[in-house]
Amino acid sequence: MYELIVETSTNLPNDVRRAIAKAKAQENAGTRAALSLSTITENIEMADEKVSPICQDTGMPTFEIKTPVGVNQIEIKKAIHKAMEQATADGKLRPNSVDSLTGKNSGNNLGGGTPVIHFSQWEEDVIDVRLILKGGGCENKNVQYSLPAELEGLGRAGRDLDGIRKCIMHSVYQAQGQGCSAGFIGVGIGGDRTTSYSLAKEQLFRTVDDVNPVDDLKKLEDYVMENANKLGIGTMGFGGEATLLGCKIGAMNRLPASFFVSVAYNCWAYRRLGVVIDQSTGDIKEWLYKDGETVDLNTASKEIAAAAEVQEKTREVVLEAPITEEQIRDLKVGDVVIINGMMHTGRDAIHHHLMDHDAPIDLDGQIIYHCGPVMLKDEEGNWHVKAAGPTTSIREEPYQGDIMKKFGIRAVMGKGGMGPKTLKALEEHGGVYLNAIGGAAQYYADCIKEVKGVDLMEFGIPEAMWHLEVEGFAAIVTMDSHGNSLHADVDKSSLEKLAEFKEPVFK
Ligand code: SF4
Repeated sequence: MYELIVETSTNLPNDVRRAIAKAKAQENAGTRAALSLSTITENIEMADEKVSPICQDTGMPTFEIKTPVGVNQIEIKKAIHKAMEQATADGKLRPNSVDSLTGKNSGNNLGGGTPVIHFSQWEEDVIDVRLILKGGGCENKNVQYSLPAELEGLGRAGRDLDGIRKCIMHSVYQAQGQGCSAGFIGVGIGGDRTTSYSLAKEQLFRTVDDVNPVDDLKKLEDYVMENANKLGIGTMGFGGEATLLGCKIGAMNRLPASFFVSVAYNCWAYRRLGVVIDQSTGDIKEWLYKDGETVDLNTASKEIAAAAEVQEKTREVVLEAPITEEQIRDLKVGDVVIINGMMHTGRDAIHHHLMDHDAPIDLDGQIIYHCGPVMLKDEEGNWHVKAAGPTTSIREEPYQGDIMKKFGIRAVMGKGGMGPKTLKALEEHGGVYLNAIGGAAQYYADCIKEVKGVDLMEFGIPEAMWHLEVEGFAAIVTMDSHGNSLHADVDKSSLEKLAEFKEPVFK
């Protein structure tokens, strides 16, 4: 179980690697999306080399287990719990289980409902264990439709195949880049609200390149794969060719009165692996989703070279805190920012806290990084960063503008962009929003040279305020102090394109 957890967290399966390599080859050279995909593939390779988490967000660990009749499932559960605890202590997983009422992190990835373990029996004589680590950023972009429904851009979606088609196209649009696109979707049709979502998530255990045995569903999967990328949302929502890398659809019976279509969105960091275990020895007999092939993630070398060329033409600005208002007003959407010096992490608990409390340090002119890192303490008591990609920023929308103004913060960095309230505050106060590449946890951890300290540890490791010294930390200005937002632009253009799919396709 320990091996399965560590491999799943650090080593992306080959079908996913192939899909990412293909997207990278198709992305227009020199665009922000192409540069993001290069960062993503570099990150995947770094995670391989260091046996470190691909993304800092461990996500919800979900085990699907099939056992022969007579196997003691309680023992398996105990082994999983022990392995989860060990993998967390070893920095392979981030402590990710939080008491919903008190906000307290259990610290070991165990707690009510964590991890999720589903058992079923089968008549084979081996144990089949599959694990998916699905991050919170993409989990938040899951969506469930109840048909008939009126969908933005697409009009009426009825209780038929064409209505389902509209729901799926809409689900890709509503996710924008916030689930760390380019992503994969599992779709569940029918059931009740709960089983419909479960069916959607189960589809994520299918391989990206399998073929749906149900003809109508195959047609639908092909249609979505052909057309969803035309929405132009692109990697990280920066615009571009690669928005969706896989679509798997399942159907089950429903009640006459209900018609649910559920979509489980998975980011590019699609961490799922499996093992077949000998029931008497506990040995791993076979790895699932591994085919022995070494996937070359850099087949698109021409694109990378061209991207590097264009990067030279992109304005690159070096920032070091404390940053002045004048420096910020000079920045425009599309600029690449290279950060040296200090930045401070802050996510949900910190933002909530800062609304009514003083900051533990002077934040005037500083940079706040929306990030919940994986941290490990050595024997001398020094902290080390094991993974540190950005988290979804939109969650801080209710607080961000007020906090920037209250403390004089000049830049906030995360992923997926923020909304109109923050954009207005950036304009009034003189601030920028920087988009780092979601999931590039190893790439960014490498830019962090020293952990200078930590405050508010009572919120737990991911939610504490870490004071980090960085070097060469690159991000893109996607919201500036002149009222421009790349996120709002891509949302608008993709909604216009979505409307082109309004006419019925499946009669
Ligand atoms: S890649 Fe993005 S959505 Fe996926 S787990 Fe990491 S931060 Fe979350």
